[in-house]
Amino acid sequence: MVSLFFFFKDFEPSAVTPRGLAPPGLIVNGDFSEMMRLKVSSTPTTPRKNLNLSVTEPGKNDGPSLDGTLMNYIDTLTQRINYHIGYPVNICYEHYANLAPLLQFHLNNCGDPFLQNTVDFHSKDFEVAVLNWFADLWEIERDQYWGYVTNGGTEGNLHGILVGRELLPDGILYASKESHYSVAKAAMMYRMNFENINASINGEMDYSDLKAKLLQNKGKPAIINVTIGTTFKGAVDDLDVILQTLEECGYTQDQFYIHCDAALNGLIIPFIKNMITFKKPIGSVTISGHKFLGCPMPCGVQITRKSYINNLSRRVEYIASVDATISGSRNGLTPIFLWYSLSAKGQIGFQKDVKRCFDNAKYLKDRLQQAGISVMLNELSIIVVLERPRDHEFVRRWQLSCVRDMAHVIVMPGITRETLDGFITDLLQQRKKWYQDGRISPPCVASDIGPQNCACSYHKIDFIIP
Ligand SMILES: *Cc1c(COP(=O)(O)O)cnc(C)c1O
Repeated sequence: MVSLFFFFKDFEPSAVTPRGLAPPGLIVNGDFSEMMRLKVSSTPTTPRKNLNLSVTEPGKNDGPSLDGTLMNYIDTLTQRINYHIGYPVNICYEHYANLAPLLQFHLNNCGDPFLQNTVDFHSKDFEVAVLNWFADLWEIERDQYWGYVTNGGTEGNLHGILVGRELLPDGILYASKESHYSVAKAAMMYRMNFENINASINGEMDYSDLKAKLLQNKGKPAIINVTIGTTFKGAVDDLDVILQTLEECGYTQDQFYIHCDAALNGLIIPFIKNMITFKKPIGSVTISGHKFLGCPMPCGVQITRKSYINNLSRRVEYIASVDATISGSRNGLTPIFLWYSLSAKGQIGFQKDVKRCFDNAKYLKDRLQQAGISVMLNELSIIVVLERPRDHEFVRRWQLSCVRDMAHVIVMPGITRETLDGFITDLLQQRKKWYQDGRISPPCVASDIGPQNCACSYHKIDFIIP
C-alpha cells in the first residue's frame, strides 16, 4: 500500500500519516505545537537496529513483503521520534502529507532559478517566491539579490565562500574553531589559505585572535565566515564587532568579503533582534531549510548580491540557461515544501515557534541546573549544552551528539515539555546509577562551558564558598 498510494486518484493523506500524528489540515495561525499529538511512552525505546536489507528479485523474496518492510520501518521511526533531541531537525511534518501527491512528478530546477526552463517540470515559480521572502527578511532589494534553494547549509557555505574567492582570488579564509566543518571543507576544496580563529568558551569567535591574524596577513584580502549560531554551542559571532575589527585593522570594503552561516539561527534571530541585514557590508547569507523551518528533506537557501554572481555564471546550452549554482540537477520538491511551510506559518508562526523554543530551552536548563548538573545556554540560542552522559546506551537512546565531555539537546519546535521531562527523569535516574550517590564524580566541564556553569565536585564547592 505504501509504495502505491501516490498513484491512487482518491489519495487521502491522513491514511499515510504515521500512527499518533494529527491529521493534516489542522494548522491554525501557523501554530504547529497544537499538532504534536505524540505521547512519550514511559519505557524508553531502544535505538533502531540495522534492517540488513537486500534488493531482491520480484517473486524471489522469501522474507517480508516490500510493503511489510516499509511499514515496519515507518513504525520504528514513529516510535523513535520522541527521542530525537540531539540534532537540529524540526519534527513537525504532518502538514506535508498534503504535498505527497507531488511525488508523482520529477521536478528538477537545474540552472538559474530566475530563468524559465524549456521543460515544464520545475518549480522555479515557488523557488523565486521563497527567495523573495528571504531577501525581504535579510533586507535586500528584489533587483539587487541573487540566490537559490540549495541542497543544504553546506552547499550554501560552499557557494558563499566560492563567491568570496571569485571576487578576491588571493583572499585568506578566516573562520573560528567552532564554525561548521563545511567551512574547512571549502578551504580544502578550493585550496584556499585558511586561518582558524580561536573561540571563546561560550563558542563565539575570539575577536582579539581575529584582529591579530588580520594584522599579520595585511596586504591579502579577508574572506570571513561569520557563524550565526554555532553547531555545538549555539553561539552567535558578533557581526558588528567583526566589521569594526576589519576597520580597525585598515581593511576597506573592497578588501573583505563576509559570508554569514546562519544554518540554524537564521530563522530565529530575525524574530528577536535583527543583526543579519544586507544593509551591512556582507556578501552572502545561508540557512538550512530542514533545520528550524523543518523541511523533511535536506535543503537550504543561499542569498547573495546580484552584482557578485556575474563572475560565476556560465551559459549552458544543453539546459538553455545560465548556471551559477553548485549542483547540476536541483531538487524541485524542496522549494515547494519551503513555500508551503513559510506560507502556512507566516511571521506570527515563527514568532510563536521561537518563543516556545526559548521557553523550553530555558526550562530544560533550569531543571538541569537545579538538579546539580553542569549546563550552559547561550543568549539567542536554543541549544542546551550539558555534561556528557556517562553511558553510551543513554546517548544512543536519546540520539545525542557528544563532543569531548559535552553533549547537547537542541530544543527545536517539535520538542515538547513532555519529551524534555522524559529526558530529565531518565537522566536523573541513570546518574544515580553512574555516580552512585556521589561516590563517583561527574566530569569537570569547566574548560568546555566555563567554571561558572560547571557543577563538578571541585567547581560546585568553589561556587558555594566564594
Ligand atoms: C548544520 C549546519 C551547517 C550545515 O548544514 P547542512 O544543511 O547540514 O549541510 C552549516 N553551518 C552550521 C552552523 C550548522 O549548524
